[in-house]
Amino acid sequence: MFFKKGKQDKVFVGKLTYGADILDELSVFCVDNSINSGWINLIGAVKCYNIGFYDQNSKEYKEIKSPENEAGFEIASCSGNISIKENKPFVHLHAVFTDKDGKAFGGHVMKGTKIFAAEFMLTSFEGKDFVRSHDEETGLFLWK
Ligand code: ZN
Repeated sequence: MFFKKGKQDKVFVGKLTYGADILDELSVFCVDNSINSGWINLIGAVKCYNIGFYDQNSKEYKEIKSPENEAGFEIASCSGNISIKENKPFVHLHAVFTDKDGKAFGGHVMKGTKIFAAEFMLTSFEGKDFVRSHDEETGLFLWK
Protein backbone atom coordinates (compact mmCIF):
# COMPACT_ATOMS: atom_id res chain seq x y z
CA MET A 1 0.00 0.00 0.00
CA PHE A 2 1.06 3.54 -0.70
CA PHE A 3 -0.62 6.71 0.54
CA LYS A 4 -0.07 10.30 1.56
CA LYS A 5 -2.05 12.29 4.06
CA GLY A 6 -3.11 15.78 3.05
CA LYS A 7 -5.81 18.41 3.02
CA GLN A 8 -8.38 19.45 0.47
CA ASP A 9 -7.50 22.80 -1.05
CA LYS A 10 -10.08 24.23 -3.47
CA VAL A 11 -13.33 23.01 -4.99
CA PHE A 12 -14.03 23.86 -8.63
CA VAL A 13 -17.51 23.35 -10.07
CA GLY A 14 -18.23 23.96 -13.74
CA LYS A 15 -19.35 22.73 -17.12
CA LEU A 16 -17.25 21.63 -20.05
CA THR A 17 -17.40 23.06 -23.58
CA TYR A 18 -19.68 21.53 -26.21
CA GLY A 19 -17.60 19.52 -28.67
CA ALA A 20 -14.40 19.64 -26.60
CA ASP A 21 -12.24 16.59 -25.99
CA ILE A 22 -12.81 15.76 -22.33
CA LEU A 23 -9.15 15.00 -21.52
CA ASP A 24 -7.74 17.98 -23.44
CA GLU A 25 -10.08 20.47 -21.79
CA LEU A 26 -9.56 19.16 -18.25
CA SER A 27 -5.78 18.98 -18.73
CA VAL A 28 -5.63 22.62 -19.83
CA PHE A 29 -7.90 23.59 -16.93
CA CYS A 30 -5.52 21.90 -14.45
CA VAL A 31 -2.46 23.64 -15.92
CA ASP A 32 -4.21 27.04 -15.96
CA ASN A 33 -5.31 26.65 -12.32
CA SER A 34 -2.09 25.07 -11.00
CA ILE A 35 -3.89 21.87 -9.99
CA ASN A 36 -1.27 19.14 -9.51
CA SER A 37 -3.35 16.71 -7.46
CA GLY A 38 -7.04 16.26 -6.96
CA TRP A 39 -10.20 14.28 -7.43
CA ILE A 40 -12.90 14.78 -10.05
CA ASN A 41 -16.48 13.65 -10.59
CA LEU A 42 -18.41 14.36 -13.75
CA ILE A 43 -21.85 13.64 -15.22
CA GLY A 44 -23.55 14.58 -18.48
CA ALA A 45 -23.41 13.30 -22.04
CA VAL A 46 -20.90 12.74 -24.82
CA LYS A 47 -21.24 12.83 -28.59
CA CYS A 48 -18.81 9.89 -28.85
CA TYR A 49 -16.37 8.09 -26.61
CA ASN A 50 -13.03 6.34 -26.79
CA ILE A 51 -12.28 4.06 -23.87
CA GLY A 52 -9.41 1.76 -23.11
CA PHE A 53 -9.21 -1.74 -21.72
CA TYR A 54 -5.79 -2.58 -20.28
CA ASP A 55 -4.76 -6.11 -21.21
CA GLN A 56 -2.73 -7.33 -18.23
CA ASN A 57 -0.92 -9.95 -20.33
CA SER A 58 0.19 -7.81 -23.27
CA LYS A 59 0.41 -4.70 -21.02
CA GLU A 60 -1.23 -2.60 -23.70
CA TYR A 61 -4.46 -0.63 -23.91
CA LYS A 62 -7.05 -1.86 -26.37
CA GLU A 63 -9.08 1.10 -27.63
CA ILE A 64 -12.86 0.77 -27.81
CA LYS A 65 -14.53 3.50 -29.84
CA SER A 66 -18.23 4.26 -29.55
CA PRO A 67 -20.46 2.84 -32.28
CA GLU A 68 -22.22 5.24 -34.65
CA ASN A 69 -25.08 6.67 -32.63
CA GLU A 70 -26.58 10.03 -33.58
CA ALA A 71 -28.40 10.16 -30.26
CA GLY A 72 -25.10 10.20 -28.33
CA PHE A 73 -24.35 8.63 -24.98
CA GLU A 74 -25.04 9.48 -21.35
CA ILE A 75 -22.14 9.79 -18.94
CA ALA A 76 -23.80 7.64 -16.30
CA SER A 77 -20.74 7.93 -14.10
CA CYS A 78 -17.27 9.37 -14.47
CA SER A 79 -14.63 9.85 -11.83
CA GLY A 80 -10.90 10.16 -11.69
CA ASN A 81 -7.88 11.90 -10.30
CA ILE A 82 -5.21 14.39 -11.18
CA SER A 83 -1.54 13.80 -10.51
CA ILE A 84 1.82 14.56 -12.09
CA LYS A 85 3.07 12.51 -15.03
CA GLU A 86 6.14 13.60 -17.00
CA ASN A 87 6.27 16.93 -15.12
CA LYS A 88 2.73 18.08 -15.91
CA PRO A 89 -0.79 17.53 -14.57
CA PHE A 90 -2.25 14.25 -15.82
CA VAL A 91 -6.02 13.65 -15.74
CA HIS A 92 -6.91 9.98 -15.20
CA LEU A 93 -10.61 9.26 -15.79
CA HIS A 94 -12.77 6.17 -15.82
CA ALA A 95 -16.35 6.31 -17.06
CA VAL A 96 -19.52 4.38 -17.73
CA PHE A 97 -21.39 5.53 -20.85
CA THR A 98 -24.90 4.35 -21.71
CA ASP A 99 -26.74 4.28 -25.02
CA LYS A 100 -30.42 4.93 -25.92
CA ASP A 101 -31.36 1.47 -24.63
CA GLY A 102 -29.49 1.92 -21.35
CA LYS A 103 -26.76 -0.47 -22.41
CA ALA A 104 -23.52 0.39 -20.60
CA PHE A 105 -19.94 0.59 -21.81
CA GLY A 106 -17.08 1.55 -19.57
CA GLY A 107 -13.38 1.82 -19.09
CA HIS A 108 -10.38 4.09 -19.04
CA VAL A 109 -11.23 7.35 -20.82
CA MET A 110 -8.93 8.07 -23.75
CA LYS A 111 -8.41 10.96 -26.15
CA GLY A 112 -11.31 11.17 -28.59
CA THR A 113 -14.15 11.38 -26.07
CA LYS A 114 -16.12 14.47 -27.14
CA ILE A 115 -18.41 16.40 -24.84
CA PHE A 116 -22.07 17.09 -25.56
CA ALA A 117 -22.76 18.53 -22.10
CA ALA A 118 -20.96 17.81 -18.85
CA GLU A 119 -20.87 19.18 -15.32
CA PHE A 120 -17.91 18.54 -13.06
CA MET A 121 -16.79 18.98 -9.49
CA LEU A 122 -13.06 18.93 -8.90
CA THR A 123 -11.40 19.02 -5.50
CA SER A 124 -7.71 19.89 -5.45
CA PHE A 125 -5.35 18.77 -2.69
CA GLU A 126 -2.83 20.98 -1.01
CA GLY A 127 0.75 20.07 -0.31
CA LYS A 128 2.37 16.92 -1.60
CA ASP A 129 1.89 16.16 -5.27
CA PHE A 130 1.31 12.64 -6.49
CA VAL A 131 3.84 11.72 -9.15
CA ARG A 132 3.43 8.87 -11.64
CA SER A 133 6.32 6.81 -12.94
CA HIS A 134 6.63 3.57 -14.86
CA ASP A 135 5.88 0.46 -12.82
CA GLU A 136 7.70 -2.66 -14.04
CA GLU A 137 5.22 -5.13 -12.55
CA THR A 138 2.11 -3.73 -14.25
CA GLY A 139 3.57 -1.75 -17.13
CA LEU A 140 1.47 1.21 -16.00
CA PHE A 141 2.46 4.67 -14.78
CA LEU A 142 1.60 4.46 -11.09
CA TRP A 143 2.10 6.68 -8.04
CA LYS A 144 5.46 6.37 -6.36
ZN1 ZN B 1 -7.27 4.05 -16.04
